[in-house]
Amino acid sequence: MEKTIFQKIIDREIPADIIYEDDQCIAFKDIQAQAPVHVLLVPKKLILNVDSFEDSDRDLAGHLLTKVSAVANAAGLQQGYRVVANCGSDGGQSVDHLHFHILGGRKLTWPPG
Ligand code: AMP
Repeated sequence: MEKTIFQKIIDREIPADIIYEDDQCIAFKDIQAQAPVHVLLVPKKLILNVDSFEDSDRDLAGHLLTKVSAVANAAGLQQGYRVVANCGSDGGQSVDHLHFHILGGRKLTWPPG
């Protein structure tokens, strides 16, 4: 199976502006930022999206969620931020490797498009 673009970043085959990494996940700046700060938090394990979590992913899911605030802090988002996981075609997902968008650095509007 062809590697996802995020797997290539994890494997250091293409460059990224990495702001956090541990044994289970990596966070790097989105190449097409939709806010002054736009970071993607990605598990190293290939999971398609939040719809694909299995019971065996419980620890990893918890790990990812607990790392959101560490990544947001490292990105300087002390005034708040938004966490988004686009899921499937109607959800606007374009990369088939689970990722949480962490957006901030300005007042964000609601609802999204
Ligand atoms: P989604 O549309 O929710 O699947 O989000 C995929 C995100 O990945 C988009 O915001 C893209 O801008 C971002 N993206 C795609 N390629 C790269 C890359 N090489 N480095 C950083 N971000 C990327």
